[in-house]
Amino acid sequence: MPENTAPDGATTTGAPHIEFRDVVKRFGDNTVLNDLNFTVAKGERVTLIGPSGSGKTTILRLVMTLEELTGGYIHVGGTPLQYEDQGGKRVRVSDKTRRRTTTQIGMVFQHFNLFPNMTVLENITEAPIHVMGLSKAEAISKAEGLLEKVGMSDKRDFNPSQLSGGQQQRVAIARALAMDPEILLLDEVTSALDPELVGEVLAVLKDIAAETDISMLIVTHEMQFARDVSDRVMMFDQGSIVEEGSPEKIFSDPGHQRTRDFLHAVL
Ligand code: ADP
Repeated sequence: MPENTAPDGATTTGAPHIEFRDVVKRFGDNTVLNDLNFTVAKGERVTLIGPSGSGKTTILRLVMTLEELTGGYIHVGGTPLQYEDQGGKRVRVSDKTRRRTTTQIGMVFQHFNLFPNMTVLENITEAPIHVMGLSKAEAISKAEGLLEKVGMSDKRDFNPSQLSGGQQQRVAIARALAMDPEILLLDEVTSALDPELVGEVLAVLKDIAAETDISMLIVTHEMQFARDVSDRVMMFDQGSIVEEGSPEKIFSDPGHQRTRDFLHAVL
């Protein structure tokens, strides 16, 4: 059995929830990730920090299978995501397997990505009805509970264009949660917001982190948020992990000059 580091720092056994093994990602001649290895334990919250262009968003997009993996393997809950190792041969997994695995993963994007021609309620009920097979009534009831959680009950019949960025992002969070994800990927979810709207979105996410055991992989420039919700912080530069550790360690006593320089620039 592989060994994992659990959120409390204790060593546990069992398959990691997310595993990157010798991952390579290239865009043309640009090698963005080169032999990247890391794991995320079940229920763990891991935040990726580092300079722009260091490959953080690409990592999330690979987990969501929005990008093609150039080399290596990613496993989710022990299941190979895009490619599997069959006796040393790298074989593509079927679309059906890939879809079944990614159904367990929710992603919230920087630019909300709500369906513009649907109401708030329809945005949230769409996938539960069409992917999970919930009845319309079940999906609506679930969506109403989630809208209450994110403080958006009074906007259920609005269109996204009638909402502020912070409100749209809270709907996007509710939409991701409506699929009961086991993994939540948060890609710079406050970067496109006016500063006064950042707090309302982070407050919702902090509540979700406190109330659920969803594993989270987070890319953010909000260092206080990273400190508050993370079990582990990984500092990236040029597609490699410079160092990783508890938020206390990384933010208060970083071991590498590159981390110190980065934190000095953003804090
Ligand atoms: P970060 O999230 O750390 O800012 P990204 O993962 O967005 O970094 O980008 C890492 C590198 O990959 C950058 O050099 C970026 O230009 C490149 N890149 C990302 N997406 C694409 C794409 N779709 N096509 C070409 N290059 C890309």
